[in-house]
Amino acid sequence: MRREAASSWTNNGHSVQIDLPPSMVISEGLPARYTAVQMHLHWGGWDLEASGAEHTIDGIRYMAELHVVHYNSDKYKSFAEARDKPDGLAVLAFFYEDGHFENSYYSDFISNLAKVKYAGQSTNISTINLRSMLPENLSQFFRYQGSLTTPPCYESIIWTVFDTPITLSHNQIRKLESTLMDHENKTLWNDYRIAQPLNDRVVESSFLPRLGKGTFCRQEEIESKLLKIEGLITNLGKHAHSGNGDEARPPKKGPQAISPLVLHFTERSKGSYVQVHQGHSMGLHSFTACMHIRTHPAAIQTVLSYSTASHDNELTITVGNEVGLWIGNEFVNFPHNFRSRDWGNYCLTWASHTGGAELWINGLVGEEQYLRSHYELQPGGTLVLGKDQDGFLGISDSDAFVGQMTDVNVWDYVLSSSEIRDQMSCRHNILRGNVLSWGGDTFQPLWRGAA
Ligand SMILES: [Zn+2]
Repeated sequence: MRREAASSWTNNGHSVQIDLPPSMVISEGLPARYTAVQMHLHWGGWDLEASGAEHTIDGIRYMAELHVVHYNSDKYKSFAEARDKPDGLAVLAFFYEDGHFENSYYSDFISNLAKVKYAGQSTNISTINLRSMLPENLSQFFRYQGSLTTPPCYESIIWTVFDTPITLSHNQIRKLESTLMDHENKTLWNDYRIAQPLNDRVVESSFLPRLGKGTFCRQEEIESKLLKIEGLITNLGKHAHSGNGDEARPPKKGPQAISPLVLHFTERSKGSYVQVHQGHSMGLHSFTACMHIRTHPAAIQTVLSYSTASHDNELTITVGNEVGLWIGNEFVNFPHNFRSRDWGNYCLTWASHTGGAELWINGLVGEEQYLRSHYELQPGGTLVLGKDQDGFLGISDSDAFVGQMTDVNVWDYVLSSSEIRDQMSCRHNILRGNVLSWGGDTFQPLWRGAA
């Protein structure tokens, strides 16, 4: 791939398309020579659907995606001739994630978008240095035979999807999402196609997939304290109604100590649960609920159960092969492919004005689902961790959580993507739930245990 390229930019009403010079060629690693034609981006941007990448990795969607389109120039004279042939096209795909720092290699690129603000507008921009706009590490990628992601969706593409994302600042992502207008002079948002069924396609990767993407730097610290904490949890009955969590809290190392309060739900203590005394009303119009959990991913297990006089499942969160969310006794599930038995960070967000709900696993978001729009969670109920609640039976043993749980935080608003990533990071203790914060300094849990 050559570094410099003169380019014509067009707003085609769906994206910005940048023509690439025929001097850009992929000469290795594919069954033929493929010559570059154009590149374009896909993004999100709508309020509750911030992420706009086309591919999902393990069901999770990045903020945006870059496609560099090539055609098989060994076999075909032009892109037009190649586009509907099974071996006609090769597309390189790159993900964008948002970070704290401006990516200076994108400064000109982002500001140039304003020159093609309106659909149909074209302009010439001298050069772009494409290589500098790509991730440094290009050795890890997925490859499969697939289709165009815009109509007519011909099955004519060898996709190469790079694992290492490109990082832009939050502002740069916002500008990317909000600069261009579509044919109706509306801001061009959500310019991606929903992921298609895999059918019989084989997705290859150039590397061994990382095991347990959610390997947290806190893990060792948590591990070292598990034995001690397990003993404390077994003896929970003694602390029942104490209203003072200090007894059950391992000693702190000092003001910088990381909260080590891990709940360990073992098979043998099936009857035990934790009832949480909320410091804040659960009458919510929207929320974000996040937690670190480590469990066997297959079985359905209740993480959080909030029950009122009228609804057993006023707010219930389950994990397993799918993550389940109940609001006001209505249910949606979120399929995902996180199959690790390692620690994972799960966040669910919901906003009443659309009913939109999203699942984040380890800082990456999946498809949005909808339930209970314009509903408001009812206050005055009972909040329990690790067990389901049943109106007649009280605490139920079915779908009990077995494993470890920590950092259970609930906010009364929808966190931004960068806040969601912050809460799972090692500096997470700066961001604690204002409705519920497990292990926070201002919140005292009310323990109740049955051995
Ligand atoms: Zn595309």
